[in-house]
Amino acid sequence: MRRYMVAGNWKMNMGPAAGRELAAAVQQKLAGRELGGDVLVCPPYATLPAVAEVAAGQPLLLGAQDCSDQVSGAYTGQISAGMLAEVGCRWVIVGHSERRQFQREGDEDFVAKITRAFDEGLKVIFCYGELLEERKLGRQADVVRDQLKGVLPRLTAADAGNLVLAYEPVWAIGTGETASPEQAQEMHAQSRQLVADIMGYPEAANMRILYGGSCKPSNAEELMGQTDVDGGLIGGASLKSDDFVGIVDGAEAALANT
Ligand code: PEP
Repeated sequence: MRRYMVAGNWKMNMGPAAGRELAAAVQQKLAGRELGGDVLVCPPYATLPAVAEVAAGQPLLLGAQDCSDQVSGAYTGQISAGMLAEVGCRWVIVGHSERRQFQREGDEDFVAKITRAFDEGLKVIFCYGELLEERKLGRQADVVRDQLKGVLPRLTAADAGNLVLAYEPVWAIGTGETASPEQAQEMHAQSRQLVADIMGYPEAANMRILYGGSCKPSNAEELMGQTDVDGGLIGGASLKSDDFVGIVDGAEAALANT
């Protein structure tokens, strides 16, 4: 049985003071609860130490939104996976569509970053998903296959336990438009089959595949109730503690129904 994960990607929101307050509010709302999954927040770099103070200990885990593909040295503006581990991160997001779009990152970058993260003991949430134009052309299955095939064969089956996938249709990110539970399930099932083909069967059965794209308290339970949807990567709704915890409640409700 896979544990769900609800991960908040704060993007470039929440400086240290606001971030500490938000994390403390989430932590307080989750305090004392026996959760059936992992709850994670990924603040901007400058906010990580402040949130680490609040998130130290269960249930809230700490992650970063990206990392360098280099170990250290003359890489102005970059942050290494080792530094993230040192400030308390256990997780890092790689391959977010905003990195693909604005930083023009691709498969080579992702493989290098994932490898660096694993070397430093971090676990990785790897994001992928099709654009609106691609869905309109019915190309979503091909796009997702290419994105996963560009990265997964270059990892080892042993890496699978440190990896979570996040299917994020780009047309649903920050748009208020959500994939239907059926659309999400179809893409997640296809992704899991690809993981089986590339990394092996037990790895595929154990791999958590999150959905991301305008997930909110009102749709979380239904989305996460799909067989192959193991939680959510949450952007906008992770910036309000009630909404974020409401999504955790949705994940718990979906778990209770299985
Ligand atoms: C995201 O950017 O990963 C995301 C899912 O954003 P939102 O929840 O705002 O659509």
